[in-house]
Amino acid sequence: MSYTKKRRVSEKSDESDDDNYVPYVPIKQRKKTQIKQVEKRLGRLTALKEQETGSTSEGTSEGVNDEDDDDEVNHGPKSRISLLDQHSDLKRKAEAKKETAREKILKEEEKILESVAEKQALKAVSELAKGIEYADPIKTGWLPPKYILSKSEETHEKVRKKYHILVEGENKPPPIKTFREMKFPKPILHGLKKKGIIHPTPIQIQGIPAVLSGRDMIGIAFTGSGKTIVFTLPIIMFALEQEKRLPFVNNEGPYGLIVCPARELAKQTHEIIKEFCGHLERDGFPALRTALCIGGISMKDQLAAINRGVHIMVATPGRLMAMLADKKFTLDICRYLCLDEADRMIDMGFEEDVRTIFSYFKGQRQTLLFSATMPKKIQNFARSALVKPITVNVGRAGAASLDVVQEVEYVKQEAKIVYILECLQKTAPPVLIFAEKKQDVDAIHEYLLLKGVEAVAIHGGKDQEERTQSIDQFRKAEKDVLVATDVASKGLDFPDIKHVINYDMPEDIENYVHRIGRTGRCGKTGVATTFINKGVDETVLLDLKHLLIEAKQKVPPFLFEMQPDNEKYLDIGGEAGCMYCGGLGHRIADCPKLEALQNKQVAGIGRRDYLAAGSADY
Ligand code: ADP
Ligand code: MG
Repeated sequence: MSYTKKRRVSEKSDESDDDNYVPYVPIKQRKKTQIKQVEKRLGRLTALKEQETGSTSEGTSEGVNDEDDDDEVNHGPKSRISLLDQHSDLKRKAEAKKETAREKILKEEEKILESVAEKQALKAVSELAKGIEYADPIKTGWLPPKYILSKSEETHEKVRKKYHILVEGENKPPPIKTFREMKFPKPILHGLKKKGIIHPTPIQIQGIPAVLSGRDMIGIAFTGSGKTIVFTLPIIMFALEQEKRLPFVNNEGPYGLIVCPARELAKQTHEIIKEFCGHLERDGFPALRTALCIGGISMKDQLAAINRGVHIMVATPGRLMAMLADKKFTLDICRYLCLDEADRMIDMGFEEDVRTIFSYFKGQRQTLLFSATMPKKIQNFARSALVKPITVNVGRAGAASLDVVQEVEYVKQEAKIVYILECLQKTAPPVLIFAEKKQDVDAIHEYLLLKGVEAVAIHGGKDQEERTQSIDQFRKAEKDVLVATDVASKGLDFPDIKHVINYDMPEDIENYVHRIGRTGRCGKTGVATTFINKGVDETVLLDLKHLLIEAKQKVPPFLFEMQPDNEKYLDIGGEAGCMYCGGLGHRIADCPKLEALQNKQVAGIGRRDYLAAGSADY
């Protein structure tokens, strides 16, 4: 103890020499210091000599080194280790430190994810209460062709690898490379051909056999990669099988139910099903009845259809629950449920609605979940609703379609609306413009009309008639531009959109992926232009930056320059990006969505209220 004290004093005196300040040091102490300095010099000399001669004499040098830090013992000019060895030793130590830091971060992330996991499984309350658990998937009458069944798992794995299909789950159904081998009847094959659908896309190659086998499934694939076919064609086949066995009578059904987050998407899916059912009927197959159950349209028409007995229903959650609560129909014989854009539905605070819908089912059902974006947290949660699920992944969940050229431009807030006109020159129509707020949609719409642009608009504040008319006109190419909120960002499949303009950057990177995914669909290419400025949250911009890098797009200089401290942690391994929201530009510990959610929870505001405020009508 006393020794260190002395040492400090001696150091101080050294320092103060430089400053021309000489404090009083007692003579006894000064002498001791001098002796020590001489000893030190001598020690160094002996150490050097020893290094030169290669001999060792521990006594002297050790006595001098005693007072140094433990870590430093072997390093520095005094030590007898070569500089090269010292360097590699230090490097090894630094790496070890980094490795443990990395593990620590990954562990912490797991903990955060666990702590935010939903406490309650995604099951109907009655199922939870009775502890009902189904052990095996539903049995169907479909089997793959014998020669495909007889092929080895290795051969199947080769096919999957070729098409970049990742499959998880027990007893993986085989991938099948043609619609004919999937055993669809001729009118369906003709119908597909008529739509220009000849060869199945990767999600269809693996997804359709899984669904036809009766498996529960999570299907994740790029926007515009043909997910709709994966769940619509099998449900048509199952309904046909049922109808052939025992025709549906009044008030019976639905047998299959498809739930979508937005009305326009439900309508679009319903049209596709009707189209294929029409092909079948014209070819002599039994007629299948379908119903559309969405808000904003008359209940009367829908009820008339339902009362005749319905095979397949496409619905949005709100209207569906209202009709079920009013006992307008039941899900007693429903055995097939598909949630399209599933993560959007569960994530937006609809999980209670989903549980409510589940509660109307009697007996086991086949459950399917589809989306282009599905963060780990939602996948884990969703799995609690499924029985021995198969997860089919084509591309990273949340990755942007590679057929979209993504451009990001810095535009000042006040210049944005005028700049749209210039932007419209980039491509030919049709063009889709997205804005977060309804007022902005109205303002842009009005401005474009004033400038003589053939534009229509939709958002949750407009009545359904106007919404439907706008969509129809845009679909038929009678109008060149559609201005919309995020109601139109998910699932809508307009023919050949050339350009998507984001008037603002969505708060949520996944909405960005869905928005730009309205173009570049099924092999075609498109352009997306996004306006950003100082007002945009930094975390979203970082997510955007890394999404652009992932899709090998040009990163504009102002985005490239954004390099916050925590960016260095991005590639520490584990799940890419944030496990909570799927953003690539941050890890879960920095997730703004999670933080916002936790703040709201702390403030005692229910999740639904918080989300309902911002969401359009679903
Ligand atoms: P997703 O739901 O994955 O975003 P959709 O199911 O809406 O994509 O399909 C996008 C478009 O691609 C639709 O117009 C559809 O008719 C077309 N399509 C689907 N499958 C194929 C295929 N195998 N070959 C060519 N076009 C296809
Ligand atoms: Mg879709």
